[in-house]
This record gives sequence, structure tokens and C-alpha cells, in this order.
Amino acid sequence: MMLNLVLFGPPGAGKGTQSQKLIDRYQLVHISTGDIFRAHIANQTDLGQRVSKLIAAGELVPDSITIAMLEEEIDKNPQAKGFIFDGFPRTVAQAEALDRFLESKGSGITGVVALDVTEEELTVRIAKRKAVSNRADDDSEKLKKRIEEYFNKTIHVLPYYEKQGKLTKVNGIGDIEAIFEEIKGVVDGFQ
Ligand code: AMP
Repeated sequence: MMLNLVLFGPPGAGKGTQSQKLIDRYQLVHISTGDIFRAHIANQTDLGQRVSKLIAAGELVPDSITIAMLEEEIDKNPQAKGFIFDGFPRTVAQAEALDRFLESKGSGITGVVALDVTEEELTVRIAKRKAVSNRADDDSEKLKKRIEEYFNKTIHVLPYYEKQGKLTKVNGIGDIEAIFEEIKGVVDGFQ
């Protein structure tokens, strides 16, 4: 059985940080669609050129592009013991596509951990990250757009997984190690 986790949360919730720790602990392949898009942009690929403006503006990349890219990443790792999906799915259509794709491989999502962080805390964190990340989309106007995209489109992914009985919320505010301990408890419960 594969261990396929979705780490869910708004921009700045700590998905990247906690993903890194989960990979080390469970030997999963990390798929961060944001990281993959940024690599395409840095390498000036065709895909990178198609998405760079949207990403710079803090808007979501269309589902068709994102889903095709994600499926390609999964197929690059046929030996994986499992995946951690970070920043994907961000729409219900993406969540449905992921289910269909994994099912076609005789697999599925094991569970979803949603990091719960208030909007106020997110704004403070991203302002700090801006100073070190060099991400143009961490700037305040773009950030507003990203948070808006989250509340308009991405939040609907939560009830999708809740209906499947796969969703667990974890408080994402506090000490990084303490949050990780809680996530570990949840993930160990999935197995
Ligand atoms: P992230 O690093 O996850 O915050 O993603 C950075 C940006 O990449 C987002 O603001 C979107 O423009 C784009 N992006 C990343 N993942 C997705 C996704 N699953 N669906 C649509 N756009 C995405």
C-alpha cells in the first residue's frame, strides 16, 4: 500500500516546512506544484513561459495545465512508496482528477492533513518570508490575490475530502516541532 498524503493549507500555513519533515520521516516523494512551476520558470521552458504571468500575479494556473504537469511528475516516480502533495489539489476539479489518476494505478489518497492558520497570522508570516524568499508573489498586493484565490477556490477542497472521511485538521500555529509531532500522530493513524 502506498502512503499518499495531501498537505493542505493556505499560503504561508507551513506546508513547505512540514512537507520537508514528513519526507524525511516517511521516505515519500515530495510533489510541490509551486516548486515545479518555479523550476519551469527559472529554466525558461515553454510551460514556464505560459504560466509565469499568472504566478507573478498570484492567480491560479488553469486546471488543465496543472493536472497534466502533476500526472507527469507522478509518472516520473514509479518506484515511490508514496507521495506528499503540497500545494495540490487547489480546486475541486484537481482533487477529482487526482483521485481518478491514482485509482487508475490501483492506488488512492490515504489522508489529508489541513494546517489551520488564521488569516491574520498568514499575513505576518508571508511578510517575514518576503524578506528572504525572493518570491515576487510574496509581495502584499500579490499575496492578497493568493489568499483570495484560496478562499474562493481552494477552500472547497476541504469538504470534498471531508465527505470521503479523509480530512484531519491540525492547528498550524505554534512551535514547528510540536506541529510536526501532531501531524506524525495523524499520519501514523492512517497506516
Ligand atoms: P505555492 O508555492 O504552492 O504557493 O504556489 C505558487 C503559485 O503557483 C500559486 O500562487 C499559483 O499561481 C501556482 N500554483 C501552484 N500550485 C497550483 C495548483 N495546484 N493549481 C493552480 N496553480 C498553482
